[in-house]
Amino acid sequence: MAVRTGQQFIEGLRDGREVWYNGERIADVTRFAPFEASIKALANLYDLQHDPKYRDILTVDCPEFGERIARPFEMPRTREQLALKRESYRIWAEATCGMMGRSPDFLNVMMASLAAKRSFFAEFSPARAEAMVNYYRHVAKHDLFLTHALLDPQLDKGKARHQQSEPDICLRVIDRNQDGLILHGIKRIATAAPYADEILVWPFPPTFQPGEEPYANVFAIPMNTKGLKTLCRPSFAHPGARHDYPLSSQFDEMDATVVFDHVLVPWDRVFLHEDIRFLNRMYKDSRMRELTAHQTNARLETKLGFLYAVILRMAEVSGIASRPDIMELLGEAVACVEVIRSTTRSAEEQATADPDNGVLYPDLFALQAGRALGPVFYPKLVGMLRRLGGGGLIQMPVSLSEFDSPIARELERSLRGADVSGLDKAQLFKLAWDLCGTEFGARHELYEMNYAGDRSVLMAGIQREYGRKQYYLDHLDRFMRAL
Ligand SMILES: Cc1cc2nc3c(=O)[nH]c(=O)nc-3n(C[C@H](O)[C@H](O)[C@H](O)COP(=O)(O)OP(=O)(O)OC[C@H]3O[C@@H](n4cnc5c(N)ncnc54)[C@H](O)[C@@H]3O)c2cc1C
Repeated sequence: MAVRTGQQFIEGLRDGREVWYNGERIADVTRFAPFEASIKALANLYDLQHDPKYRDILTVDCPEFGERIARPFEMPRTREQLALKRESYRIWAEATCGMMGRSPDFLNVMMASLAAKRSFFAEFSPARAEAMVNYYRHVAKHDLFLTHALLDPQLDKGKARHQQSEPDICLRVIDRNQDGLILHGIKRIATAAPYADEILVWPFPPTFQPGEEPYANVFAIPMNTKGLKTLCRPSFAHPGARHDYPLSSQFDEMDATVVFDHVLVPWDRVFLHEDIRFLNRMYKDSRMRELTAHQTNARLETKLGFLYAVILRMAEVSGIASRPDIMELLGEAVACVEVIRSTTRSAEEQATADPDNGVLYPDLFALQAGRALGPVFYPKLVGMLRRLGGGGLIQMPVSLSEFDSPIARELERSLRGADVSGLDKAQLFKLAWDLCGTEFGARHELYEMNYAGDRSVLMAGIQREYGRKQYYLDHLDRFMRAL
């Protein structure tokens, strides 16, 4: 079953998992109204894998598996494979307008990256490396959907994990036996956790200090594991209101806190444990960033392109698209889209094969530029929506069905724009509001600003690791010497 259908994905979620919403346990996540539309959107992604139009891009015959697997699981060895991977990310991203940041491809390519660098895990322990590779094969073979949880509760940021008011608020190993490790504690912001198949856990940022060894673990378990509780944030979905909330009614990815209550993690699911030295190296030395940022930047390109199109349409329906100041604004939006678009292509062009595993890695620095600029560009484009919409964004009717009511004429006359009916303009402005005014919109801005980690840490890392630093310094030195 290496390429699942949407129905198979949905059936897999009826597994007795413990998910809590507003103080109550959800009996069946697939029938819980706030999740239904997002699960349907995800199921659609799985179905696309079987659509003859997309099948050869979204899936690939893999000799190593002896069957077809979803494209993100493939370890790329040629530029063509990298381009096909990007194309597969684009197809899925377009199906959700880029609004599902943690669609299955994100962690699936992450698993391929980790397994590709089995040598890193083998340095820690050959048995753990084998467990990692077997797990990758398991996830690919069953076409699973993973969530991930990296962060500890925010607590007192001035203290290490073991120095907090209680040492086991942050997730840590509290015991072990012949079957595995016993973990206890909390991780947070696992996006899509209520309807993912399994959870991959590792700690971030990689700044572990002596004393924090029990917290330094990398492992994966199914979401229905005994003792694992998923606690949801408020839903931002608007079930059924597709015309009034075009995005939040379909694509609200739930974010969740995950609580581990004496959870047994079997040894074959433990990939690294209680070792701060290896944990601090993992983020960089497993080379997970190159292949995952390739996916995240491809998704962001789609999302920014979608916002650009909404901005342009708003300018047109307002009759101001050719005014010089609005042309400048639109040009800036185009530049943002194109910069992010260029990062993936440039990274592929400059990709290099790793002699350790033969995998072709897209260029990290080109991709990191996208990660650095996404948190700037996305709020900038959202600001453009607000600027163009002005007060018009909040003078919308409660529901577009009011255009079928006795007040239809008044609505039509008050909302029409340049060569556009009141109904069509209201539909467009409601879409814009879903991007810039609703809770869903606010969450997306927060997501784009944070998903790749705290920006100051990200930027410092980019400067620290910059591989072309010496090249530019050498040029400067040559120039200075020649003066
Ligand atoms: C919508 C959304 C979805 C997400 N999805 C996922 C997911 O699926 N899986 C996952 O693992 N993570 C996810 N994340 C988490 C994301 O990676 C983090 O939000 C990001 O790394 C920032 O960490 P933080 O939220 O703990 O903020 P913090 O690190 O607490 O940062 C908040 C502020 O505090 C400052 N600060 C922090 N520590 C210190 C200090 N010691 N001294 C001084 N200032 C400090 C920061 O500079 C920043 O200004 C998601 C986040 C969002 C918003």
